[in-house]
Order: sequence, then C-alpha cells, then structure tokens
Amino acid sequence: MIILNTITEIKSFSLECKKKHKTIAFVPTMGALHDGHLSLINTAKQYADIIVMSIFVNRIQFAPHEDFDSYPRDDEHDLNACKVTGVSCVFMPNTDSIYPNIDDYTKIEASNIAKPLCGASRPHFFSGVLSVLVRLFNLVQADYAVFGEKDFQQFAVIKQCCTDLFMPISIISSPLIREKNGLAMSSRNRYLSQADIDIASSIYTALSATKKQYRSGETNIDNLLIFFRNQLHQSIHIDYLDILDERILEKQEACTENSRLFFAGFLNNIRLIDNLKL
Ligand code: AMP
Repeated sequence: MIILNTITEIKSFSLECKKKHKTIAFVPTMGALHDGHLSLINTAKQYADIIVMSIFVNRIQFAPHEDFDSYPRDDEHDLNACKVTGVSCVFMPNTDSIYPNIDDYTKIEASNIAKPLCGASRPHFFSGVLSVLVRLFNLVQADYAVFGEKDFQQFAVIKQCCTDLFMPISIISSPLIREKNGLAMSSRNRYLSQADIDIASSIYTALSATKKQYRSGETNIDNLLIFFRNQLHQSIHIDYLDILDERILEKQEACTENSRLFFAGFLNNIRLIDNLKL
C-alpha cells in the first residue's frame, strides 16, 4: 500500500494505472475509519483492480459552529486498517493543496435533491461535499466511486451531480453497516459514552418497529412518523424525520415500496443520522 500526500503524486499514480490499463475504484472518507468504511473497500474490490481511499477532513462542508476542529482524526489506526483491508493507495492531502485559497475557490451547487433532510438542516453541506469530490474525482481519475447508504441522500446528490456534469465515473452504493445493538456505525460514535450508545440504539429500534408497522398494513405517513417518535428515547432531540420516495427524495401521499424513513437527531449535541427502507 502506498501513501500519497501531494497533488503531483496522486496525478502520476492515476496516470500510471491508466497506462497499465488498470481500473480504479475510489472510496472517499474523512478518516476515523470503522467497519462501515471498510465494507466500502470490500464493495470497491468487486469493481476494480486498484482501490484508492482518500482521508481528508473537508473543512468547507462544516459550518463555523460545527465540529471541524474536534472531528476525530486517527491516522495510525486508519492506515493500518487500510493496509489490512487491501487498499492499494491512500491519498491524504492537506487543506492548502485542495484549496490553495480557502477564501475564494470554485464551488459546485447541488440540484434540488439536496434541498430536504440534511440539505435543509445543513445548508452549506452538500455544496461542500460536491466541491471537494469533483476535485478528488479529477485527481484520482477513478472508474468507480463507492458511497455508503448510511448517508443515503449524499449518495443520491453525488450520483445526480455526476450525471448532470457528464462525469466519466460510476457511482456505486454500499449497504449501511450497524453495531451489534443496531446503531449505525459512524466516526462520531467515538464521542458517545456507553450510556449514550445504549440510548442511541433506540434509533434502530424505532426504525425497525416503524418498518414492521408499515409491513403490517399502516401506510399513513403521519401515523408512521408518530409511531417512530413514540419508540425513540426521549433524550434524543430530533433534527429531521421524514418518509420520502427514495428515488427522488420527495414526499408521497402514502407509504409505498419505494419509501425510506430518514432520521437525524442530536444526543448530547452529537449529531446522529440513520435511514431504513420501509
Ligand atoms: P465519512 O468518513 O463519514 O465522510 O464517510 C465516508 C464514507 O463512508 C461515506 O460514503 C459514508 O456513507 C460511508 N459510511 C460511513 N458510515 C457508514 C456505515 N455505517 N455503513 C456504510 N457506509 C458508511
């Protein structure tokens, strides 16, 4: 496994791969890797010869009041995990090389699919995500990029962006990985105490119970959302909660086989997101 830090290095790495007719699958991350991230590597291996992972905490997708400074960073652990899981190349640039002028840089604006859910509660977020990804995609020159369903809206927004911009890359989704108690794995779970982790498991309990309620015949979306709220531990403050058509992320008149429940909330100021196909 090789570790690259500069723009020149990653460009020549991609060029070498192309010359050798090797396909590349790219897994962008912000590090503090867990089994959810590592599962993306295993998905990526099914598609390409070479796996490139980036580890870059992207300042511009955090609002000033958010946790950029305290976001968990653990390079030694991450590099070891990448090596063991079969990553070919880890790209770890610094902020200055990706944004030579952080006060004035070219931005990508997302389509309407970014408006609800995370886009409504974090208005800067998707533009920050797309603005870094287009840069990384141009550097890595990957044939495929893999994203987790944990961030389902992010996957949809990126796919739409690549379609709209005619980007020569296929966007692949990979299943959401959970802890044994059902909590969606997340780098931010490192902030949680054991007591918090127990409380946070009620998110998956509520998601699964709501799915069961739908499968037993309840299709009224308001009733299903009330049902979810009643299952959720009261220490969790809901940021957003909705059931949308997963193909277009828009509201429906009633719950159908295309519906997905989306949740974001705060537990002791730690933001947790999750979703489940109903
Ligand atoms: P992040 O480092 O949080 O920006 O996430 C990098 C990638 O890992 C994104 O594609 C996420 O959707 C994915 N990811 C994060 N957590 C999980 C999880 N629990 N299961 C599957 N994918 C995940």
